Amino acid sequence: MNLPQYFSADAQSRLESLIEKYPTPFLAMDLSVVEKRYVELEHGFPEADIFYAVKANPADEVIELLASKGSSFDIASPQELDKVLAYGVPAERMSYGNTIKKASAIKYFYEQGVRLFATDSEADLQNIAKYAPGSNIYIRVLTDGSEGADWPLSRKFGCNPEMAYELAVLAKELGLNPYGVSFHVGSQQRDIDVWDGAIAKVKVIFERLLEEAGIRLEMINMGGGFPAIYLQKTNEFTTYAEEIKRFLREDFGEDIPRIILEPGRSLVGDAGVIVSEVVLISRKSSTALERWVYTDVGMFNGLIETLGEAIKYPISSSRQGEEEEVILAGPTCDSLDIMYEQFKYKLPLSLEIGDHVFWYSTGAYTTSYSSIEFNGFPPLDYYIL
Ligand SMILES: *Cc1c(COP(=O)(O)O)cnc(C)c1O
Repeated sequence: MNLPQYFSADAQSRLESLIEKYPTPFLAMDLSVVEKRYVELEHGFPEADIFYAVKANPADEVIELLASKGSSFDIASPQELDKVLAYGVPAERMSYGNTIKKASAIKYFYEQGVRLFATDSEADLQNIAKYAPGSNIYIRVLTDGSEGADWPLSRKFGCNPEMAYELAVLAKELGLNPYGVSFHVGSQQRDIDVWDGAIAKVKVIFERLLEEAGIRLEMINMGGGFPAIYLQKTNEFTTYAEEIKRFLREDFGEDIPRIILEPGRSLVGDAGVIVSEVVLISRKSSTALERWVYTDVGMFNGLIETLGEAIKYPISSSRQGEEEEVILAGPTCDSLDIMYEQFKYKLPLSLEIGDHVFWYSTGAYTTSYSSIEFNGFPPLDYYIL
């Protein structure tokens, strides 16, 4: 096992001592990688405000690091809000980005000082007007073309541009400040052109609101979608930044609104490696060509994004030598708990029960997605390298 080169120099030896000390499975995070990704993002978009999407990895150490770097935070629940507030981040550096919220939660965010709310429906907007009076709201629009995304966030969130227009007008009538528009092009979006279409759609909403309703929006929240390093190639982040800034200039010229970015995956994904142990290796018949390799990490304790084999993590093992195709599955009594069967991963023929399998780029959507007690397996532990 060799950690990727962008890990800090002593990460390898620190990982080895973690492996000696703690039972698997666990996630190990190199915070220097998070910091590096944050700085790259700042350089790529010097004018933008970064709101870290807490759900990607809510570890205290990650929040503390990003808070100290001056990041803002995209928050989805009162529990996340409490967590980030505990690090002394002022409420002005937070947005309530979930369009699906209880009235009691809106009230709580307002009481804590949050004044920036996402919405995509009239019922939610009415609640914001009632429980967070006078706040800034931004309207999430549906984006099409989330095909290039390995983990789409489409359909469930956002409204069409016509409704976005109407919600902005209504927001003003309700005494709120219609402040901007947001979109999310889908997570791990490999097709940069999707941002072009989304920005063009936003531009039309800006213009219509100004011309027909006298409402001047000030902000575009471009969501997340920037990639982590998985098996399927993506462009370099610098290419994303250059292209997206070009799309913005093409549509808005010199008059570019305030830009908010909400990265999750791209900030924390590459910083993590999951260490797992092989529980069992078997064949389904004496003539079966493929071996099944069952690891102690699976769909329910960290690897849910392998659902539909959507995210393909780079993996390696503690063995070397000739490799063969394997089917990779988790430890629980649920047949959904198969990570990769269609896509053929290869592992050494010499791999044995008790060996380690390493899952790279697993810093995002792993610990936060793991179940509490399915089959008695605990949630995925994590340690800082
Ligand atoms: C999950 C989420 C993000 C983060 O998306 P990534 O693709 O992980 O960067 C950003 N904004 C909102 C509203 C989200 O729900």
